[in-house]
Amino acid sequence: MSEAAGAPHWDLSLLYEYGSPRLEADLRKIRSLGCDFPLWRERLAAPDFSPAEFDSLLSDLAHIQEFSSRLSGYSTLYFSEDTANQKAQSFVGMVDSQLVELENSLLFFQHWWKHLEADRAEEFLRAVPRLEYYLRRIRAFKPYTLSEAEERIINYKDVTGSEALVVIYDTITNRYRFRTDFLPGGAEGRVSREELMVHARSHLPEAREGAYREFYRVFGEEGPTLALIFQSLARDWRVENVTLRGYRGPREARNVVNDLPEHVVESLLRVSESETPRVFGEYFRKKAEALKLPRLRRYDVYAPLAPAPEREIPFSEALEEVRKAFSSFSPRMAEAALNVYEKRHLSAARLPGKESGAYCASLDPDDAPWVLMTYKGRRQDIFTLAHELGHAVHSQLAAGRGIFQFHAALPLAETASTFGEMLLASSFRRKNSDPLVKNDLLFHLLDDAYATVGRQAFFSLFEAEAHDMVEGGATAGEISAAYFKNLQRQFGDSVELSPEFAWEWVSIPHFFHTPFYVYAYTFGQLLVYSLYRRYEIEGEAFVPRFLGILSQGGAASPVDILNEAGVGPLDDDFWKGGFEVIESFIKELD
Ligand SMILES: [Zn+2]
Repeated sequence: MSEAAGAPHWDLSLLYEYGSPRLEADLRKIRSLGCDFPLWRERLAAPDFSPAEFDSLLSDLAHIQEFSSRLSGYSTLYFSEDTANQKAQSFVGMVDSQLVELENSLLFFQHWWKHLEADRAEEFLRAVPRLEYYLRRIRAFKPYTLSEAEERIINYKDVTGSEALVVIYDTITNRYRFRTDFLPGGAEGRVSREELMVHARSHLPEAREGAYREFYRVFGEEGPTLALIFQSLARDWRVENVTLRGYRGPREARNVVNDLPEHVVESLLRVSESETPRVFGEYFRKKAEALKLPRLRRYDVYAPLAPAPEREIPFSEALEEVRKAFSSFSPRMAEAALNVYEKRHLSAARLPGKESGAYCASLDPDDAPWVLMTYKGRRQDIFTLAHELGHAVHSQLAAGRGIFQFHAALPLAETASTFGEMLLASSFRRKNSDPLVKNDLLFHLLDDAYATVGRQAFFSLFEAEAHDMVEGGATAGEISAAYFKNLQRQFGDSVELSPEFAWEWVSIPHFFHTPFYVYAYTFGQLLVYSLYRRYEIEGEAFVPRFLGILSQGGAASPVDILNEAGVGPLDDDFWKGGFEVIESFIKELD
């Protein structure tokens, strides 16, 4: 038995037991709550509806939300511990459809609140200061909301319009199968995207090249068709959000969801645009040296270095590493991380049918979050553990914000998780004198930094350009040419590009699924680097400020949370601070 077998599995029965009377009773209860809540509808319309009643309505709503979070949470946890379990599959479907119905029966409240005249809304807000941000967020979309009839038309038309286009995109691209005859031994098999791209990280240069060439051969052949889908989606996005809803530009619709002002996003992208070629260019030159190549090819960006010898690390040691790293920053952080393990909410064991990947599910502010991952005894698994336990620390520190506000908003969602990884990395670097192990860690960090910061920032710059080009009637070929120019600016002369990468953009699902999403990755990662730099400079004094950021959860806008902690302003210098941390890693490379 391997030592990694020491990894624990959670005790899901602490939440529910499948088929138990308690679960059945709660499912019945959620149905009755869904029936009772609409009784408020009448009171809302009454002229004497009071702030005190408003407060008790919100308590009802919170109660319902807590129930549905636990039930839907349980169904997904139960499914993810064994995805082959058919009972679990149908249970997830059943709970989902009940919750959709429940949500529909609650919608009238949001509609009423959004459209309430400003003076009355302010009066109600004064009665429930604890939920001010949550309530203001609902009203933030009011200026962009159309009449009920128009909203209905858009909803109906989206199903057969933009949403259908996304389904078509997924259907076409999921069907792609790739040849692997570039491999030594000439395997003729046809494999999926995931199976093919494993070879993009092969230690064999020909395998990496072969994988990319095959990937873009397939995407390139269908490029014009996929581009046509993108062009339609981009037009749809602009017509709906700019022409109809009145956002000032196509990206602003996403900024409002993220609650980030455009000038912050602009500053983030402006700095990333100038720093990426310089900072990562230096990294790619060092990586080429380490790989003994005259110049890095685009094929080699994620090439592995000869790995440092590694032994299998027992789970107990991994947990102790995370505890020590967190505790060196703040004992409170270590305590919250360990709580997940001690409460038996952590599943790290290898199990047949278990979902691959990792997540932290914070279902209930009054209970420890649930964490799932598969621990295999590798160093990278300890980083995954630190990442997910970091998420768990975040939501536990924010527990006091209640069910509506204890989840951080997207721009801050990765703050504790990524910071936790940084703490672990520096604790490893401090105690490891072996230069091989140290370099291994640094290359890992830097590959990650490139993929999250530089690459996503240039995606985002391209995306804005592509939306404008579509508006101006550009062809698929012209958009691909613009993408290639974007790559040339990104890599400068540090990386050798090959023409097939011009079609990379049609292979990026985010451009199709969630327009203008990707800058959030750059934002989150650079933010953490920048915070980490403050910690290095300020030491102890920084700790309460960081914990203060976490304890806000999603109870204020990202900018306000950071300002209140004395971090920011989020201007060019702030983002440059993040790049300086990346540069310091590069300097440490031997
Ligand atoms: Zn995460």
